[in-house]
Amino acid sequence: MQFIDLAAQQRRIRPVLEGRIRAVLDHGNYILGPEVPELEERLAGMTGAKHCLGCASGTDALLMVLMAWGLGPGDAVFVPPFSFFATGEAPALLGATPVMTDIDPVTFNMDPEALARAVEAVRKRDASIHPLPRAALERPLRARAVIPVDLFGQTADYDAILPIAAGHGLMVLEDAAQAFGAEYRGKKSCALGCQAAATSFFPAKPLGGYGDGGAIFTDDDALAEVLLSIRVHGKGRDKYDNVRIGVNGRLDTLQAAILLAKLEVFPEELGARRQVAGWYAKRLAGLKGVTPPSVGEGRTSVWAQYSILVSGGRRDAAAEHLKSRGIPTNIYYPTPMHLLGAFKHLGHQPEDFPVALACCRDILALPFHPYMTQDDVSAVGLALEEVLR
Ligand SMILES: *Cc1c(COP(=O)(O)O)cnc(C)c1O
Repeated sequence: MQFIDLAAQQRRIRPVLEGRIRAVLDHGNYILGPEVPELEERLAGMTGAKHCLGCASGTDALLMVLMAWGLGPGDAVFVPPFSFFATGEAPALLGATPVMTDIDPVTFNMDPEALARAVEAVRKRDASIHPLPRAALERPLRARAVIPVDLFGQTADYDAILPIAAGHGLMVLEDAAQAFGAEYRGKKSCALGCQAAATSFFPAKPLGGYGDGGAIFTDDDALAEVLLSIRVHGKGRDKYDNVRIGVNGRLDTLQAAILLAKLEVFPEELGARRQVAGWYAKRLAGLKGVTPPSVGEGRTSVWAQYSILVSGGRRDAAAEHLKSRGIPTNIYYPTPMHLLGAFKHLGHQPEDFPVALACCRDILALPFHPYMTQDDVSAVGLALEEVLR
């Protein structure tokens, strides 16, 4: 059994892929060729966002937005400690301070109440309100932005987060790297009322290319214009008229072409993902020691991962047993962000964010992709039963 099966997808769309790639080879516009705006228009249309800007990766998408907002030293950016490193890395790269806020134990997404407390703690420089990074105690930080993450395919709780952010003047950047196509209260991820959203086309994401890629979404015309400049070395009239510091953050024409081919099956794949998740939910229901994932009220998930919690300290034993049955698993994420070596200088203790810590101990991602069969799901369920009963 495979953890994800990109080959099954490729067999389905191979002729379309080859046609799209051939078109790029024929026109030869490898940098910002016509497939890039074509994809940007399609994605903007799918989400309802006014602007979509393809970029080189999801990480660049996050970084470029924070650059456009002028974030830097002395700024606090609120991030969940249970996410891929890039969520915290992007603000840190600009010299801003990531302020971690713990997650909801059910959805694994940012806990809005923790965010409210963290903002107050930064304002008052009072770590008794909420654990703070050392830098926030040494000097006053400006609370500038929050990056809620739509983890494993379902969005964070924006109806709760957006008013808190607005009340404190925080910019909101939705990290939708794992949630392109997800819905929240009838709206699409990347167009949920945040000032900007970032997604990723890393091959393993629900909408993945054959290499790195990402996109930014926003309704803000002025931001979109600055981002166009930042994407090409801070260009002004042209790329040799540099009016600000930027990056080389373009999406490849070839990746755009591949993504356009993949879009033809994307809606169907989302349906198949929902079906596989349904099979899992049924198979795992009532299994002792396993908490299957649950989708928050008013949301749909695109199931970037199917992650269960295994209680009683038996996660690693479960993974080992599944492996012996030919079933691969993964752990997202083995270490909460506040305990990673790169963030040692923040000075956090393990128990600062107990929910994130417990999730890292118990979480286990099971094989999941739209081409899985009900028999595959049954085999995973059986193997879990064998080890946990
Ligand atoms: C994958 C991912 C990113 C980074 O995307 P890349 O395209 O790999 O740079 C950022 N945030 C989260 C939550 C992710 O899962």
